[in-house]
Order: sequence, then structure tokens, then C-alpha cells
Amino acid sequence: MSRRVLLGTCGLCGNIFNRASMTRHLNTCISAGRQPPAVSSPGKRLPIPVFHLFVEARYDKAYWMHLAVPMEAHLGIVDAFLRQIWLECCGHLSAFTIQGRRYASAPMADFQESGMGVRLSRLLQPGMVFSYEYDYGSTTALSLKVLAVRARATDRGAVELLARNDAPMAACDQCGSQPATMVCTECASEDQGGWLCEPCADGHDCGTEMCLPVVNSPRVGVCGYTG
Ligand SMILES: [Zn+2]
Ligand SMILES: [Zn+2]
Ligand SMILES: [Zn+2]
Ligand SMILES: [Zn+2]
Repeated sequence: MSRRVLLGTCGLCGNIFNRASMTRHLNTCISAGRQPPAVSSPGKRLPIPVFHLFVEARYDKAYWMHLAVPMEAHLGIVDAFLRQIWLECCGHLSAFTIQGRRYASAPMADFQESGMGVRLSRLLQPGMVFSYEYDYGSTTALSLKVLAVRARATDRGAVELLARNDAPMAACDQCGSQPATMVCTECASEDQGGWLCEPCADGHDCGTEMCLPVVNSPRVGVCGYTG
């Protein structure tokens, strides 16, 4: 599957930028105190300190997001947000690794793991890079970076989506002309392509029951993930 330029949309102003210039753009949008259109009465909320996080799929740079998370929020709300927007298929385990220590959804004492009920302010500071895994079997691995501490008039217990990549377009691996709408999990797991358009999926050797829909997530075509 070959894909083209990686654009994304700013959630605050709706404009489109490429991956590299989104960080600079958000500095402008955030400094201007811009709020997402859905927030009806931002004036009622006082700005609170948030971490501006950049999240990307470790093995596929096409998938990325910018998030604002209240500094006093627990790690668990980041886990819940990542699951909801990108990952959740059947309740797999997940864990963050921050400075060599693991914070897991179901901590195992034998492995000296902690839980996720820890405040971000105790763990993170600007410039820090850390990682996240969803599902220890068919793992989706993410990298996160703390870009800055900022002030946002946001909900204390919520993650705010500042920007994310637009859905990457892929051509069908079989006919090469139509856009792929299905992924054959069998072929994809063996790196044998498997991105198919509707007609090619219908006649695919592995059978249509092996196919999952193409979705805008690094977990596309993995396990039972359908978006
Ligand atoms: Zn913007
Ligand atoms: Zn699953
Ligand atoms: Zn095709
Ligand atoms: Zn197949």
C-alpha cells in the first residue's frame, strides 16, 4: 500500500496543515486562546495548566494527534481517550512506559508495574518522551512527547483533541486504481498487502470474513478493530 502526504486538521480553527507545521500552527492557535467550535461557553471556564502532548503510532507516521491534558488528571484518562479514539477492540490490556517504569491498566506486581491512578504532574515534564502499548499480543505501539505546558480553558477531567491526521488514502493493493476500503487481516498480518477496494475484497482468496473496514487509526486491520 502506498500513501500520500500526511495532512491533518487543527481542531481549534479547522485549517489544514502537514504533520511538520501543525506544532508551530497550534502554538499560534493556543496562544490566541482559540476554542473548538463545539465548546459553547468557554468563557465560564477558567484556564488550567495542561500538558500539550504529541502522540504518534510508533511504526506508522501517518497517524498522529495533538492533545491537551490537564496536568492534575490521572494517567488513566489518557489511556481511556486513546482507547476511545484509536484502539479499543476487545478490552485488551495496556501500559505506559515512562522513564523505565510501567503504568498498566491491570498492573502486575511481579513485573513491578504501577496502576494508572497517578497524576500526570507527578510523571511528566516538557521535552519528555514516553511510550504506550495497547494489547500485548497484537500490539499497537504509540510514542508520546510532552511538547509544552500551557493554559487552556478546558474540562478538568477531559482530554482535549487539538489536532489529528486526516484519514490517509491508500490505493487497492490488487487493482491499484480504486481506493482501499477494506483490509484483509490475514494478508496484513503477514505483510502481504491486503488493502483492498470493495470489488477486489469480494473476490479475495482469504474470504471476506477476514476483512475489516479501513479506519483512521494505527490499529486499522488489527484484531477485530472496526473504528
Ligand atoms: Zn488552528
Ligand atoms: Zn481485540
Ligand atoms: Zn481493487
Ligand atoms: Zn488475504
